[in-house]
Amino acid sequence: MLQLAEIFYSIQGEGLWSGTPAVFVRLAGCNLACDFCDTDYALKFMASVPEVVHRVRDIGGDCPMVILTGGEPLAQAETLDLIDALQHDGRRVHIESNGTVFTELPPDVWLCVSPKERVDPRMAKRANEAKLIVDGRVPEEHLPLFQDQSTILLQPEGNKRPNVELALAYAKTHPKRFRISLQTHKLIGVQ
Ligand code: SF4
Repeated sequence: MLQLAEIFYSIQGEGLWSGTPAVFVRLAGCNLACDFCDTDYALKFMASVPEVVHRVRDIGGDCPMVILTGGEPLAQAETLDLIDALQHDGRRVHIESNGTVFTELPPDVWLCVSPKERVDPRMAKRANEAKLIVDGRVPEEHLPLFQDQSTILLQPEGNKRPNVELALAYAKTHPKRFRISLQTHKLIGVQ
């Protein structure tokens, strides 16, 4: 059984797919405890893989994009079964991960890695999208692990003004490789 926090239908507010309708499956639990974390990933309910697939179908209809997030979605072994079942149901699976749990993912799974205190280099290399959280500083120590990514996203923590200005200044100084990622869902008041 999967441990879950919530399943809801909204839009992807962040990153390269910003603005795209998506069903979010938030798995419960995280293997890190970041100071700035504002995500409620506490266990709310358990469900089997088929039950989650049905729930996604019920609320998302034929929405192609399903985002597995957390907490840390790769911390549960059954997540791989869920990916497989969702793909068989015709979904495009995206994963939002902190990149600490090495997992062999199918090649057509979109992996967004947002490194926090540490990251597994193999997951950094696998990432389709690298998203650094700017919280008082740009965490440049992670950059050597993301040599394969031509674009690095800088996301100001909490959309806070000082973090926005820091990220903006950094992106303008390194315009060929860095972009700002804003939490646009918060700006428009959706989940
Ligand atoms: S890795 Fe993400 S979900 Fe986990 S504690 Fe840090 S910010 Fe929160």
